[in-house]
Amino acid sequence: MNPADPSDPGPSPGPDGTAGRRLAQLAELSVEVLKGAGRSTVADLEQLGIGSVLDLITHYPRRYIDGTRLVPLADIAVGDTASVLAEVRSVRQPAGRPGRGRGRPASRVEIEVTDASGAGLTAVFFNQSWRARQLPAGTQALLYGTVDTFRDRRQMVNPRVEVLESAGEEPDSGGAPEAGRVFAIYPLSDKISLTSGRLTRLVGEALDRAKVFADPVPLAWRRQIGLVDRTAAFNHIHRPSSWAETEPARRRLAFDELFRLQLALVLRKQRQEEDARGIQHVIDRPDGPTLVERFLAGLPFEPTGAQRRVIDTIRADLAGPLPMHRLLQGDVGAGKTVVAVAAMLVAVDGGHQGALMAPTEVLAEQHASGVTQLLEGLTVPDPSTLGGDRPLRVALLTSRTPAGERASLHADLDRGAVDLLIGTHALLTDEVRFRSLGVVVIDEQHRFGVEQRAALRAKGRGEDGGGRDPDVLVMTATPIPRTAAMVVFGDLDLSIVDELPPGRAPVETTWARTDEQVAVAWSAVRREVAAGHRAFVVCPLVEGSDRIEARSATEEAARLAEGELAGLRVGLLHGQMRPADKETVMTEFRNGAVEVLVATTVIEVGVDVPEATVMVIEDADRFGIAQLHQLRGRVGRGTDPSWCYLLSASESPEAETRLSAMQRTTDGFELADVDLRLRGAGTILGARQQGRSDLKLAKLLDDRDLVIEARRLARSMVDEDPGLTDQPLLSDELQRFVEPEEAAFLFKN
Ligand code: ADP
Ligand code: MG
Repeated sequence: MNPADPSDPGPSPGPDGTAGRRLAQLAELSVEVLKGAGRSTVADLEQLGIGSVLDLITHYPRRYIDGTRLVPLADIAVGDTASVLAEVRSVRQPAGRPGRGRGRPASRVEIEVTDASGAGLTAVFFNQSWRARQLPAGTQALLYGTVDTFRDRRQMVNPRVEVLESAGEEPDSGGAPEAGRVFAIYPLSDKISLTSGRLTRLVGEALDRAKVFADPVPLAWRRQIGLVDRTAAFNHIHRPSSWAETEPARRRLAFDELFRLQLALVLRKQRQEEDARGIQHVIDRPDGPTLVERFLAGLPFEPTGAQRRVIDTIRADLAGPLPMHRLLQGDVGAGKTVVAVAAMLVAVDGGHQGALMAPTEVLAEQHASGVTQLLEGLTVPDPSTLGGDRPLRVALLTSRTPAGERASLHADLDRGAVDLLIGTHALLTDEVRFRSLGVVVIDEQHRFGVEQRAALRAKGRGEDGGGRDPDVLVMTATPIPRTAAMVVFGDLDLSIVDELPPGRAPVETTWARTDEQVAVAWSAVRREVAAGHRAFVVCPLVEGSDRIEARSATEEAARLAEGELAGLRVGLLHGQMRPADKETVMTEFRNGAVEVLVATTVIEVGVDVPEATVMVIEDADRFGIAQLHQLRGRVGRGTDPSWCYLLSASESPEAETRLSAMQRTTDGFELADVDLRLRGAGTILGARQQGRSDLKLAKLLDDRDLVIEARRLARSMVDEDPGLTDQPLLSDELQRFVEPEEAAFLFKN
């Protein structure tokens, strides 16, 4: 087979579909090999990020227009809203009449069009003078709008336009576009002259010459999942002969995207397990209660059923030979910290150490003091002491830890005198060495990069590589829908703390739009403070720098202290404050010396002050759903009823969706669904997403079944053939779609 010639289909397709054109081959072919791609077209394609034939055929239409439903111009009545497939006859730019009074005259472009029925129409564009260049005579375009009349001429004012063919373009053998076909409309850019029609023809040439695609999904699986073959899928998504063909094509190609991702995740897990040097923790002791049992018994509250269930799952993981990689989800306030501490204590019980990394100093400090309190009175064996044991020791390490203290802390860690280390990124520095790191917990994992998580884990093996791999628990307080979790964290096991501690009343949330509603919010703050509770005020997000945001928060705090909150003890917290000042104001807020804390989103993560019962969020429409939910999670943490006021007069439909969802529910998983619908998968996938394995067609909410099937197939294939050695087609393809480093890891040997 000659890979440089796309017209060579390679061996004819066998019945199992493994022969035929491979995507990996098309990735190596430049679009320049296409006859239809001259120099300027190649440059245009480059603008769209299309370099290879594979890029071209995976540049999918963004929508379709069904030519069979187009109405001939002759049949369209005044008042109808319709799409017309028309050819431009002439273009006029009448000199504009001066606008009323001042200002430049409104520019106007009038375009005469006609269609196969011979009838005519004028498309009138105001203040879009560029339309004259876009739509010269001879252009074929779809116009969408409402027909009215002006001086007895039928016209559409400012219709939507999709250019199918620019003037003078050589249409393919099929002739100019005509009604009766389904037109693919591609994502394009104003900066280039490429049209959807031209792109359709280019893709068409590529597909014609590629002929048959090899299909890595076995026929039996395709039948079972209900997937068309790959050849049909590529053809039908780009040049469907009917509307009905488009969705099955999308579904198949979406499956391929998800399948490649799942395969990479399953393989990664497999490779990690092959290389693993885990610790088999001891989870029972014959001579009395374990440390975890003593810890749970000593808590000031009963663990919830969900906490117990997840702790049991984790203990089972820890007892096994393979290192745990578990994602712990749970809504804000569900009590994940108790679970994390229990996991670390299993390690400590066996003479190992635990480490907990949090994204901010405020949170790390809060964890350290909270955990120290929870562990008060617990002891660990220490043969060097008289009684044979010593108090369990928790230490805090952040970039603020004084140098002298830090040095002795490093030494203590190294010799095993510290049992639990809690801190920020400071945990990752080279000087931090553990005697035996048994369990690693990463709180608010989305705040950390992949490398940072890996770096903490690597502390287990140590610099000489002689140690072992710690068990890893990553926690997230921003729930993500289950299928999304399968896609983003498919190499992790998943646990959910799906129950809140008893007695929590849901935070009553009000979207305050009018002045009266805003006044109610401020009076609620006064009422709650008078009742001995605390209040948060979250300042608007300010574009620019942290410095500008800090200044605006400072001004807002001063303004409120003089105005709406006059007479109350108002404190300020923002990211630019000196760490010692942050700590002071947090302490004062906890003990009541500060009654109202005016803050930027630095309080978003983890802050736990159960006396806080009311939160006012200013300019709430500026925040995303996940962030609002996190912020709101700072109240309602005790048993007193709590309130949240979302201040916003915004009327944008998106703000409406977000704020009314916040008002309707406090369920983080439900909100995560709303968020996913609003923003698409990209934001969730974030840093975890590998550049080349973009999900272009798969939709995480609507394609749940495909995610599950993709996972099932990936598992079954890797179980049968861990190196994918009998699947050259698949391994070849996967290596094209993941980053080279990842490919090297997945396919080593
Ligand atoms: P999150 O899951 O958001 O990290 P935390 O672990 O910070 O939640 O717990 C929130 C609050 O609930 C803390 O004050 C914690 O002490 C308390 N808490 C945790 N578990 C329980 C329980 N089973 N019963 C009552 N209160 C609990
Ligand atoms: Mg937490």
